[in-house]
Order: sequence, then C-alpha cells, then structure tokens
Amino acid sequence: MPREYLKKATLTAQSHASEVHDTVKTILADIEAGGDAKALEYAVKFDKFEGNVLMTQDEIDAAIALVPEKLKADIRFAHDNVRRFAETQKATVSDVQMEIVPGFVAGQKAIPVDAAGCYVPGGRYSHIASAIMTVTTAKVAGCRHITACSPPRPGEGVAPAIVYAAHICGADSILAMGGVQGVAAMTYGLFGLPRANILVGPGNQFVAEAKRILYGKVGIDMIAGPTDSLILADSSADAHVVATDLVSQAEHGYNSPVWLVTDDRDLAQKVMELVPVLIDDLPELNRENASAAWRDYAEVIVCSDREEMAACSDEYAPEHLTVQAEDLDWWLDRLTCYGSLFLGEETTVSYGDKATGTNHVLPTSGAASYTGGLSVHKYMKIVTWQRATREGSKSIAEATARISRLEGMEGHARAADVRLAKYFPDEQFD
Ligand code: NAD
Repeated sequence: MPREYLKKATLTAQSHASEVHDTVKTILADIEAGGDAKALEYAVKFDKFEGNVLMTQDEIDAAIALVPEKLKADIRFAHDNVRRFAETQKATVSDVQMEIVPGFVAGQKAIPVDAAGCYVPGGRYSHIASAIMTVTTAKVAGCRHITACSPPRPGEGVAPAIVYAAHICGADSILAMGGVQGVAAMTYGLFGLPRANILVGPGNQFVAEAKRILYGKVGIDMIAGPTDSLILADSSADAHVVATDLVSQAEHGYNSPVWLVTDDRDLAQKVMELVPVLIDDLPELNRENASAAWRDYAEVIVCSDREEMAACSDEYAPEHLTVQAEDLDWWLDRLTCYGSLFLGEETTVSYGDKATGTNHVLPTSGAASYTGGLSVHKYMKIVTWQRATREGSKSIAEATARISRLEGMEGHARAADVRLAKYFPDEQFD
C-alpha cells in the first residue's frame, strides 16, 4: 500500500526561504558596514528597544532579584542535568596519539573555541531552557568567553529568568538584542564583545538564515530554525497522548510542522479529531501559533507497516522524533535520521526541551540527515599534531617525495629531499 496522506501540508520550511534570505542579507550587510549604530537601529525597528544593550552587572543583579525562588530552583535543576550530560559527552572526546611508523608519532587534541555566541530566542516565548542548553555546553567545553544574546521586550529588556539562567550557567556577557542584529553583533564583535568563533542556538527563520549566511566567517552549530516534530504511533498508542504531544510542539510557532506517521488509520482519525479541540483550549498566543501550524504545516500519513513508517520518518529527518509503538528496541535500532529520539509514552519532547539533560538545540528542516544537535563537541576543534625522530621520518620522506613528484609538486618534494639529504648524507634516494 502506498503512503496515504490524510492531511497534507500546504506550506513547508522552504515556502518563504528566498524572501527571508533577501531580508537577512540586507540587514547583515547594513550592520557589517554600520556597526553598533546600525545594530541599535534594527533593535529599535524590530524590538522597539532603546535601552542599554550590553547588560551591566547592576542590571543583571536587578533582573535576577525579580525571579521567584521556586523558578530559580527549577532552573538550577535543569542546569545540573544539562551540565552532567555535557560532562559525560566531553569525556568521549579524548586526546590520543599513535605511532604511525616506528619513530613517527601523530596525535589528536580537542581544543575548545575561544569565544562562543549563544543565541537565546525570545520573540514569542521566553526560552529560558535555550539559555541553559547553549551556555552550559559552551562552559563545559571550556570556551573562554561566552556571550548570551536574547531579544529584549520593549521597555523591559531580556526576560529576568533568561538573565538568571544565562548567569548561573556561565555567561560572561549578556546582550539584550534579538534576531539578525543580535547574531551580527556577536559575529562582528560589536558593543565591545569579542568576535565569536562559533554561533550556537535556536531561533526563528531569520536567526537560522543569518547563521547560514554567516557560516564561514564564523562557525555555527547547525541550522536550528523553526521546530519540527514527528510522531510514529501504532495501534498500541493512546490517541489523546499523541494528540497532546503534537499540539505541544505546534505551539512553538505558526511555521512549526508536526507530522503523525502511523499504520493505524483509526488512530490517525481519532488524533485528527482531537487536535483542534486541544488547540482550542490553549491560551490565545499558543492557540494562534498551534492552529496556524496545524492548518498549514501539519501532515498525517498512514503507512502499510512499521518498516514503511521508519523509512518515511528517515526521509523527513525530523528535529524531534517520538515513538509511541510496541518494540521500542526495534525502533531504536532501525531509525537513523533525527535530532533527538523520545522512546515510549513515558517520556516526551517537552521533557527534553526543558529538563532532561539532553540538548534541545537540534537540527531542523531535514538537517538531521547530516548532523545531530548541539553538544560539547560542536565547540571543540579536533586538531592533529605530529613529531618524529630523524630515523622515524625516513620512510615518510621517501614516500612524500615520490608522491609529490608524481603530482607535479616539486616544492613539496624538495621539503622531503632536504631532510633526507641532511639526516642521511651517505645514502642515495630516488
Ligand atoms: P527569536 O528570538 O528567534 O526571534 C525574534 C527576533 O526575530 C526579533 O528580535 C526580531 O529581531 C526578529 N524578527 C522578527 N520579525 C522579523 C522580520 N520580519 N524581519 C527580520 N527580523 C525579524 O524568537 P521567535 O520568533 O519566538 O522564534 C523562536 C524560534 O525558535 C521558533 O521558531 C522555535 O520553533 C525555535 N526553536 C528552535 C529550537 C531548535 O532546537 N531548533 C529550539 C527552541 C526554539
């Protein structure tokens, strides 16, 4: 049986890509030429913010004083989980060395980038958890300077809980600036910040496109734009839980796709009836986001069997992938393209988004076909080194000279020849 679409998206992540590209390119060029003053102009234009953008310690302390103690404790709980998971990841990258031939040693070192620019989204919601995810991993990686950058609210500045999270997770600077202008400020080293070596963090389509265009001038973690989520469910799934989980991710924004892939048509129909009811029950902003996302971007796909479901999911390469089906080990073994995988009804994307410890900055728009999400490793440069004894270099030099000459690279060959002649004056080499 071919895949059957009970609901098909009318828009995709690519639908407005070229307009977004043109907008972002113009803003970046303006700010590159116009520096601090131009970035401030855009902050006024997009966020109606005219306050101080690089927060002072007094401003940070004042913001922190506004955060309720219970919320502070929850932020510390999430931070602790993210930090411990990141430390465990860091332990998997080790400095190594080996003897390539006797007397010739080559090695690998993992060196953290110097300056990290962490974008913390804040347009629609206050993404406290994004501050925890980005700043904590940069700190564990060992970056020397960490900037957290988040959109200010008019007349208010960055949400106090984001300030608290960025502060306790280890941010050295907090920049009250959103969108393309924030990303540009970190890249070009505006407002006295060091130029970022890497930009990390999620954001809307403008933020994601800015990172994509700037890549090369600066490193990036990945394309982490508008959230997308796919649920694989079989007849064992609870339609109400599946529908609730779809709605929970559609509320991210009007352009956040959610997809249901199932081999049970009855389940699919029940979920399709439930989703609008659950959306209707949300607060206004969330309802607007989720209903637009469901209307324009959502899909419900019925497949013939679990193998077809898995193939379909791998094609979509979703940011979040949830399995509510029997035989979770089979799915863990079979699935290959996702940012983060949530196995079974007992966990859910919301847990990973906020508090589990796994990172919530994840690849979107199919980028999971070639990359995972944010981890300590994204901040680490895996570099190599080598050294040798004179005797150890002999076979390498001979091979190098011959390969270089065959390539026509006489200068390379002579770099080997000069050493062979110096270290082994009594020998002939061809
Ligand atoms: P945001 O901070 O990403 O963007 C807000 C900024 O967008 C504003 O400061 C403004 O400067 C800019 N902007 C708004 N309209 C613009 C326009 N017309 N032209 C140029 N710039 C404009 O906050 P948001 O908008 O709420 O988006 C957050 C996004 O982050 C959502 O799409 C959400 O799905 C995504 N997200 C992704 C992940 C992930 O890991 N992929 C995780 C969390 C959140």
